[in-house]
Amino acid sequence: MNLSNPWFVAALAAVLGVFHLELVVRLLNLARLGRPVPPELEDTYPEETREKLQAYISDGARVDVMREATGLAALLLFWWCGGFGTLQAEVNLLGWGPVTSGVIVIAVMMLAQSLLGLPFAAWDTFGVEERHGFNRMTWRTFAGDHLKSLALMAVLGLPAAWVVVWLFHHEPLAPLHAWLFLAAVSVLMTWLAPRVLMPLFLKFTPLEAGPLREAILELAGRLQFPVQEVSIVDGSRRSSKANAFFAGFGRTRRIALFDTLLQNHGQEEILAILAHEIGHNKCRHVPVNLALGLAEMGLMLALLGWALKSPDFFAAFGVRGTPAGMGLVLFGILYQPLGVLTGLLGLAVSRRHEFQADAYARRAMGGGRPLMDSLRKLSHDHLSHPQPHPLAVWLHYSHPPLAERLAALNRD
Ligand SMILES: [Zn+2]
Repeated sequence: MNLSNPWFVAALAAVLGVFHLELVVRLLNLARLGRPVPPELEDTYPEETREKLQAYISDGARVDVMREATGLAALLLFWWCGGFGTLQAEVNLLGWGPVTSGVIVIAVMMLAQSLLGLPFAAWDTFGVEERHGFNRMTWRTFAGDHLKSLALMAVLGLPAAWVVVWLFHHEPLAPLHAWLFLAAVSVLMTWLAPRVLMPLFLKFTPLEAGPLREAILELAGRLQFPVQEVSIVDGSRRSSKANAFFAGFGRTRRIALFDTLLQNHGQEEILAILAHEIGHNKCRHVPVNLALGLAEMGLMLALLGWALKSPDFFAAFGVRGTPAGMGLVLFGILYQPLGVLTGLLGLAVSRRHEFQADAYARRAMGGGRPLMDSLRKLSHDHLSHPQPHPLAVWLHYSHPPLAERLAALNRD
């Protein structure tokens, strides 16, 4: 403990502050479950649904709070015991040079973090989701998903980390060069995702010829939205929750409908959801989000460059010298409150985008009714919070609450 080191004070305030903020917001949101449902949502949440909904949302919140509390306790304990300094010293003994050592430190910390999260992911899937009838995942799929994610991190993440650590050890303009490199990586990933990454987890099958396919192609043609293919995705192997998405851009773009969406929704409702997704595309939301992400990354790298130059920053965590790989890990801890702030901005933009896509879908469908029907059905089936606390919406919601979306669709 060194209270005269400002980096130490800032990092400790960061982790404790963010943890307590999350905790308070979760409690406020839970307290709102007790309120009577507003009249316009009474059809969506009939009496018998409300009890199920309360139980589901509070069970989920319990897992979240336990996950965050365990993470915080593990971090503070590791820090207190000089874990960061010991890890760095052990890795240095391997004698593999600063860059490779840095990547090993990053790999060890990432692995530890994902192992720590594993029991909570299992609790959430096989405890909460299972009890409330959403889970369709077997232990085999669960283990497979986690192993594949780890393998992807090793194959894609570690080489990228190697480049960034190398830059910070060798280049005076490292933040700028790292930014250009990571920008290129994100564009490449957005492009690769639908063709290479997603098929590792989901099975895409072409939607078979029939009235639905006809209607989708007719809608896409009318909205002048070239579609390469319409696929069905086997979401039902994991959860009974329904979804639809677009992935990628340019020629790799694909429309994917979860098989669970087809089971529970009528044709008009499915078309309305697709029109909403096409709206995101027509309003250029993908490039806007990419640009916002890159702007945040620029800010982060500039601050990182500044922190890595300060031996006091490392000393705050009990690390000697200024090893860049360890610096990246430590900066992740310090950055949390700023991440919350940039997250607020990103989520606010995302909620605006949802309203725009809803408005587009209303025009495309010649009225708001079909989209309103499917939004109501999705909120009911997924047991979404009927009236989340405004702070929870600011902090966590990428989509506006149901009541606001319905009101906007109703307005003329
Ligand atoms: Zn949307």
